[in-house]
This record gives sequence, C-alpha cells and structure tokens, in this order.
Amino acid sequence: MRGLLSRLAVRATSRVHIPSRMMGSTTTQVLYALTVATSPKRPVPEDAALKSHHAASGFRNPWDSWRDVNFASLLEVVWRRITGKANVPDAKSPGIKVRKPEFLTTRNHSKLRATWLGHACYHVEFPSGLRVLFDPVLEEHCGPYNLLGPKRFTEAPCKPEDIPVIDAVVISHNHYDHLSYHTVSALAKKHSNCHFFVPLGNKQWFERCGIEKVTELDWWDECDVTLSPSSQEGTKVEAAGEANSSTADIKARFSCLPCQHVSARTPFDRNKTLWCSWAIESEGSKVYFAGDTGYRPVPKLPEGEDDHDSKYDFPVCPAFKQVGEYRGPFDLGLIPIGAYAPRYVWSSAHGDPHDAVSIFKDTKCKKALGIHWGTWVLTEEDVLEPPQKLKTALRRFGLPETGVFDTVDIGESREFDTE
Ligand SMILES: [Zn+2]
Repeated sequence: MRGLLSRLAVRATSRVHIPSRMMGSTTTQVLYALTVATSPKRPVPEDAALKSHHAASGFRNPWDSWRDVNFASLLEVVWRRITGKANVPDAKSPGIKVRKPEFLTTRNHSKLRATWLGHACYHVEFPSGLRVLFDPVLEEHCGPYNLLGPKRFTEAPCKPEDIPVIDAVVISHNHYDHLSYHTVSALAKKHSNCHFFVPLGNKQWFERCGIEKVTELDWWDECDVTLSPSSQEGTKVEAAGEANSSTADIKARFSCLPCQHVSARTPFDRNKTLWCSWAIESEGSKVYFAGDTGYRPVPKLPEGEDDHDSKYDFPVCPAFKQVGEYRGPFDLGLIPIGAYAPRYVWSSAHGDPHDAVSIFKDTKCKKALGIHWGTWVLTEEDVLEPPQKLKTALRRFGLPETGVFDTVDIGESREFDTE
C-alpha cells in the first residue's frame, strides 16, 4: 500500500542502448520500467527540520562557514586582472590526458566503476546494474548558448550520444559548468527512459526544455528508484550487449543532501534555486557526489600565507559531518578539488584540495576521486595545481598520496570493491 500511495507516477519504458561496436546481433530486447517513489523516512539531523536554508525568495547557506560570494567578489576578480595582481593560468598545453571512455557492455559487473568525463561529470556503473551520470556538460563552452563563458582547454572525451546506458542524470545545481541545455537535451533525446534528479526549484527549467521525467528534492529528502526489466520475446534488436543481464529489479535510493554553494544562470535569478550534494545507494554500493561546494571561509591573508596553518581556526561547514553520520559511509566520494584561487574570494563556495580531504573524511568516504578541475579555467590557480595540492593535503592528513583519493585522466575508468 505504501508503494501505491507514495508512487509519484513516473513510469516509462525504453530500449537499453548499446555501444556501436556491439551492434549487429539479434537478441531479446530488454525493456525497463522506471518507477520513482518517496522513500520511507530515515533519521535526519535535528536542524534539518528547521529548513533554515529556505530564504524569503530562494535559498541560503545557513552556517557560520558561509561568507557571501557575490557581485563584489566578481568585481574583485576583474580588479585583480586589471591591476596585474591575478595569476593567469597557462592552459595551452595543460598536460592532462584525454582518453576515449570505455563503458561496460553489460549490466552484469561485480565492481563499482566510475568514468571521469571532465570537470564535475562522472558516469558511475553500479554492481546492481544501475547507471548514473552526474553533472554532465559536454560542450565547448560553459556559458549561455554554448558560446559565452570559458572555452575548454581539454577536449570533451565523448559526446552525450556516445554514452550507451544512462538510467538517471543527477544535477547538483544550475551553474553552467554543471548544467547544460545542449547536453541535457541530447541525453533526454537518446535515453527516453532516463530520469533527472535535481535540487528544489530546478524542475521548471527542465520542463521548459521539454523534459518531463524530473524529480526535484530538498536537502535530506530521498526517493526510491526501481528499474524493472521485462523482455519482449523474439523481438529483434540491433544489439546484444544486454543479452546476459539479470532479469531481477534494480533498486536504488537517491538522497538530496546539503552543501555550501550558490546558484544562478542569469543576473536576475541568484539563489532562486537550490544547490546540493547527493548520495546514491544501490543494493549495497554507496556513492557520494559532493557537487560544487565550499567548506570554510578564508579572509584576505598576507601573500603566500598558508590558510591551513594550525594557527587559523576558521569555521567549517557542519553539513558534511552530518552527511557522514546519517548517510555514510560511502564506497566512493566524487569531491571537488579545483577553482579555489584566490582563497579570500572563492573559499566559501569552492573548497581547495585540503578542504576536499576534510570533506572526504567528514562524509566517511572510503575512496574518492577529484572533480571540478582540468577542463575550464574558472579561477586563478594553475591548471595542474589541484592534483598536486591534493597529494600535499593527503600527506598532511597522514593518508597515502595514491590509492585513496586520486585524480584520473579524462575518460579514464576506475573500479572499486564494495561490500
Ligand atoms: Zn557552481
């Protein structure tokens, strides 16, 4: 009965898509019915019920760790350029490899697998068979009309159409480097069964794009997804990649969780829509996607000063410890490490690699991969600095420099054991 009452009536069927190299054979067509239902309530932190992130006309960061990143911050960035104080990263030969991604050709695979598609975009293949794409932006520019805004310094490893199987697209917020009209439209066109999960206030944008299969959630809201395979006996299809797939349901829980950021797509919609991080659990595997987030506010300090020196005690965002306590531990965290310089301008909204390791520990991730670097020059740090500083930060936390929180080539896949 619970299921019946709580069902959000989101059902759809579609063909499973197979990479072109598998084309040409004949098998039974696999169809999936995707259902989204509200989850049974799980415990949440006491302060979550206060909804203190809801503001009079939009949303806000309700913590001492937030100092506003606003129009004045942007003026400061421009002023640094004009006066020659800004570091201008050289992205002509960035030294970041781009590979052609290889996706699995079957839903039967015993390991959790994550493929970096540049910036914040990861394609994650769960051992359950679930396939999730996070923050896809596969265009040249991250800006309006794929024309304005920064241009890629590393090429996109594939087109949206090249990704063979996507059940869910998960969006952290509406900034152009995380949400693209062209990519989202191409994905919805190819994957007619694909469902989009977005933080509160973003559903309308998708509907204006002609995308109906959207669920929007508030921080600490959750929903359950069921993918029910069925087969049409004797149906001829173009591909055989799913021939060995299990016929059992695939189950998953999508949890919208807090992070510290802002939103806007125009000068007139600042913080009108929510930003968030996500936890996706599917049959024993758990992934945390931190989206785009700051961790602690750093004021203007003397040039060359290390803001992580133990003499500084800036407040940290308490949400990540709550995520770890209430929804952790996670097999894999996808955590931003770039777009942080100068710190006094960006630290509230974008953590640096040291902050990223703090988030990794707070959220109780067992392993992590760095996102939000290597694709567009958004801020002043050199393009290879985030992975270098990540190693320094890991050392300072007493963690190994490799094998725990890594960065990979664009298009590269990593596999992880889960329990
Ligand atoms: Zn952002």
